[in-house]
Amino acid sequence: MSERKSRDFFARDEETQKEFLHYTWCNQCMASDLGMTHPVEYEIAGDVFIEGACAVCGDTVTTELQDDDESSDEQ
Ligand SMILES: [Zn+2]
Repeated sequence: MSERKSRDFFARDEETQKEFLHYTWCNQCMASDLGMTHPVEYEIAGDVFIEGACAVCGDTVTTELQDDDESSDEQ
């Protein structure tokens, strides 16, 4: 089993935090971008995840982060 390492979600800048809290997918609601509350960030085997509670139904939602923060320059 891979070890789960905690990371500090609140160390991210405010804009980034807002984005992650907004862009979610909830398996319970079967809908995206409902938002999450109580975010917790952690890392498993080099992959970074943000886990929180769906703002609508309260079920656990998990967002897997793609790569690092700087790789989003697609224009
Ligand atoms: Zn939900």
